[in-house]
Amino acid sequence: MKKTPARRDFIKLSALALGGLAFGPGLANGKPKNTHTLAKIAQGDEKLNIVCLGAHPGDPEFGCGGTMARYSEAGHKVTFLYVTRGEASDPQKTFAEMAVLRTKEAETSCAILQVSPLFFGEIDGNTVLDKDRNSGMEKQISLLDPDMVFTQWPVDGHPDHQVTGMLALTAWVRAKKKYHLYFYEVNTGTETMGFTPTDYVDITSTHEKKKAAMFAHKTQDPINTYNDYFKPLEEFRGLESGVKQAEAFIHFKAEGQRALISGLK
Ligand SMILES: [Zn+2]
Repeated sequence: MKKTPARRDFIKLSALALGGLAFGPGLANGKPKNTHTLAKIAQGDEKLNIVCLGAHPGDPEFGCGGTMARYSEAGHKVTFLYVTRGEASDPQKTFAEMAVLRTKEAETSCAILQVSPLFFGEIDGNTVLDKDRNSGMEKQISLLDPDMVFTQWPVDGHPDHQVTGMLALTAWVRAKKKYHLYFYEVNTGTETMGFTPTDYVDITSTHEKKKAAMFAHKTQDPINTYNDYFKPLEEFRGLESGVKQAEAFIHFKAEGQRALISGLK
């Protein structure tokens, strides 16, 4: 998300979006890290470790802050892994000045959502997809040892979003697909493109908290960004899924978990 172009309740959510939480035997090429059952998740007996990547401070909040707030409220551990600190977002300020400002905004936002911020150390507008970065992200995610990773959909008009999505995808492949990978959308139509959701999460209950987290990014013109892009998107995803406001995801399933089309074997 840049300043300028720049599932009902949790139990039902589990049944829809997080059917994948029942780490099935079908994870191709890799052993499931854990065996979660929907009943356990729904009862909150088992705490998940969730990592959410974003290219810039604000991307995870705007893209899936309502869902992440639901996870943290349910007692799951959530880490926002910001690939950059949004250094390039104001030509009137130096990268160092913006990094300080946007790091503070990210920390404020994460405190509202009760998630932990972490910074990967790349520079806004200058992210690179290469051997070293792929190895670095593989190691970083391995250290965090997640059950689920959320990241930006890489078909996106912003190169940093492309890089962020692909770094996460490569790390997931190298981890032998042992955790679940979900993609989220931002500024759909101008940034995210070609996004056909597989799963929806009802964020009606956490919507106000999400708004507060978004609006903590004061340098990013958050009110106009919300009104122009994210308010209509939340309502549209809500209409699609039969709730007031929703966030949508693509669950990037391992080959063996792909659904079968009815009538075909
Ligand atoms: Zn962004």
